Amino acid sequence: MAAVTAKATCSDGNPFGDHLCVAPDELVRVYSTSGTTGSPSFIPLTASDLDNWVTGSARSYAASGVGAGDRVVTTYNAGPFVAGAALDAFSRIGVCHVPIGTGSNERLLLAIDKLRPDAVVLTPSYAEYLLELGDLRSSTVRRVLVAGEPGGGEPAFRAKLEAGWGARVTEAMGIGDIGPSLFGECEQQLGMHLGARGLVHIELIDPDTGAARELSDGATGELVLTHLRHRAAPLLRFRTRDHVRISTDACACGRTAPRIRYVGRTDDMLIVRAVNVFPAAVREVVSGFTPDVSGRILIRPTAPGVKQEPPLPVTVELPPEATPDPALADAIRRRLRDVLVVQTAVELVPWGSLQRSDYKSSLVERGRTT
Ligand SMILES: [Zn+2]
Repeated sequence: MAAVTAKATCSDGNPFGDHLCVAPDELVRVYSTSGTTGSPSFIPLTASDLDNWVTGSARSYAASGVGAGDRVVTTYNAGPFVAGAALDAFSRIGVCHVPIGTGSNERLLLAIDKLRPDAVVLTPSYAEYLLELGDLRSSTVRRVLVAGEPGGGEPAFRAKLEAGWGARVTEAMGIGDIGPSLFGECEQQLGMHLGARGLVHIELIDPDTGAARELSDGATGELVLTHLRHRAAPLLRFRTRDHVRISTDACACGRTAPRIRYVGRTDDMLIVRAVNVFPAAVREVVSGFTPDVSGRILIRPTAPGVKQEPPLPVTVELPPEATPDPALADAIRRRLRDVLVVQTAVELVPWGSLQRSDYKSSLVERGRTT
């Protein structure tokens, strides 16, 4: 749709494409997308575009309950990327912002110990990993704000983070091409409110046909976003490839903006005998077996592409000192079949077998052909 058209008109002499709507001397910043699904795009911003981004992000993060007087440690190495603008939101909210970045777990744990922050901002993968490295339950952190990847909204995964940190977990979500932290969850923990309301218009579509779906309470579909006030290079009906569930009923926090819960990414979705399977949903079901599992999984598709023949191989990591038990593997396999209607082959592996990350974790590993 719009993004493809925009990219198609880029050339050596015109890095932004024909949809640049302002004179080049009005641009005050240019970000790059991380290019996880192809070559990076350049995203030019005017001063008002940048200000709107910070406004939307500030609303999203403020929804989680942080405010002036709070000390917040952030862990994003986001400088060159769109998420860098989200960090400006913390100044706007008025919290004391402690940017630590990733790269040194020791430095982060020291900052949490010495600076006694009220909140931390990090990916759910890193929030989980840190629980293996330190006693965070006894820290001062009472709010864990997760973003950057899905997971923070999955009930079992969230429960694990909340128990480990002794803190309330809320999530935020941005879309690189549209803006950082467009959505942020409030203390009711019932999905992420559209913080960028009035700046970005949301739609849901059927991902297969492109047909619009009504934004009714409980509706699901692919999220499509349109810039409303963006001046430099506004995107119209940008397909995010993200599947979400929308809530439009009243929220006790008083915010009237609709809420979304992340379901999965089109790019991650597998189709096993005509059944759509999202890796995040597999993790959620497996996490239901905690404490008999660590909560980490890896799906290893045997065929290239989306369509897979059953059984779908799922590797499940055990907690420390546990040994593989065929009865547990069988129970997980049956639960996956009952809940997701998918046949799997469950392999239990010892604690520490699956990769840890201070940024994002992939739930799918390609390349195995056996
Ligand atoms: Zn709310």
